[in-house]
Amino acid sequence: MNGKACCKPTVKRALVCVILLAMPARSVASPQASRQAQGSRLPDDARVRAALDWFSPNISWVNDQQARITEIPAPPFQEAQRAGAVKELFAEAGLVSVQIDKGGNVIAELRGVNEKEIVIVAAHLDTVFPAGTDVKVHREGSRMTAPGISDNGSGVAALLAMARAAQFAHLKPQRSILFVGDVGEEGEGNLRGMRALVDAYRSKLKAVVVLDGSGTDHVTTKALASRRLEALITGPGGHSWSDFGMPNPINALVRGSVRFINTKVPATPRTTFNIGQIEGGTSVNSVPHEARLKVDIRSESEDELTRLESALRECIAAGVRDETESARDRSKGKLEWKVELLGSRPGGELAVDSALLAALRAADEFVGNQSRIERSSTDANIPLSLGIDAISIGVGGSGGGAHSLQEWYDSAGREAGLKRALLTIFGIAGLAEAKSQ
Ligand SMILES: [Zn+2]
Repeated sequence: MNGKACCKPTVKRALVCVILLAMPARSVASPQASRQAQGSRLPDDARVRAALDWFSPNISWVNDQQARITEIPAPPFQEAQRAGAVKELFAEAGLVSVQIDKGGNVIAELRGVNEKEIVIVAAHLDTVFPAGTDVKVHREGSRMTAPGISDNGSGVAALLAMARAAQFAHLKPQRSILFVGDVGEEGEGNLRGMRALVDAYRSKLKAVVVLDGSGTDHVTTKALASRRLEALITGPGGHSWSDFGMPNPINALVRGSVRFINTKVPATPRTTFNIGQIEGGTSVNSVPHEARLKVDIRSESEDELTRLESALRECIAAGVRDETESARDRSKGKLEWKVELLGSRPGGELAVDSALLAALRAADEFVGNQSRIERSSTDANIPLSLGIDAISIGVGGSGGGAHSLQEWYDSAGREAGLKRALLTIFGIAGLAEAKSQ
């Protein structure tokens, strides 16, 4: 029953509400609540302490895994080689049912007492860098530099570290934990790996913890909705001199783009747009036969996204119209245009009183960390949009230059992030009772 129902002016219902409110919280304690309580007591367990203590003396092993994984290229839609390596490492860490699913996600299980309920901990395998990018890792002390080293070499390394720590300390969860290296998080991957995972495990899935990048300063509980669109304008094309005057797709695209970037967007709900790529034409002395651009639009509101998407369509149509009207010679053909949706990430939010957030907060408290709530576009968008509890967190250490060739990661202090992640995951999955010998 929610607050609204209580407010209805029915005496009987009001009475029921009063009685419910007067009942001690204990009598309605859910398994979730008891797991919540267990979250803050986790470090009292000797096995958990052994797992937490595993990280510090093994940091150089974790760093080595991170460098090794990062040096296996994983461009968008080409994650298979990296997935293969992670699969082997999962098996070495004692996880079971290690497999690569149809979409290319590597999935391995830390079997719980209750196999009917699942918690997923996932780190994306893919990078934004195209095939052929030099991904050699340069190391200097605790600092490593390479494309993808932090986003998401650090996340994948954290998965492996936690699996090893759990194996070392014989940790057995209540709910089964699936360790996943997932595909298709970046750009046009459009979260396809996470979509497939949630689809496959939805009926058992209780929570998703996404590990993405460095740091411990934030917890993403709000999914930023976004859409990616491509506008394409085509025409007959021809010679710059002899065909001068025919409608030109690049001209039309420029005319439409200028209209679009003048579109007003609200500060609240925060809404943004970015023309990220523009291409077309064959040579400087040819009238192009094609021009295209890619736009990323984001908003705290789905309605604003829809409005902005329509604005893009109208602007491109207007650009084509303007160019056609001003063409000196329309007999040489006309322009066609279309705007296609390349990807869409739905929005959603984790409830502030969720057991998952409580587990994270308990972990923060244990490691002496403070983290702020963030809204962002991550793999957590998919579960959050379906009402499944999910967060995205960094895995400790520090990093910068994500999506650039100068990307770096510094492992100093990474233990805190690993402990925080491990406690969060076992906080929400629960810990099995120790076996009496
Ligand atoms: Zn990432």
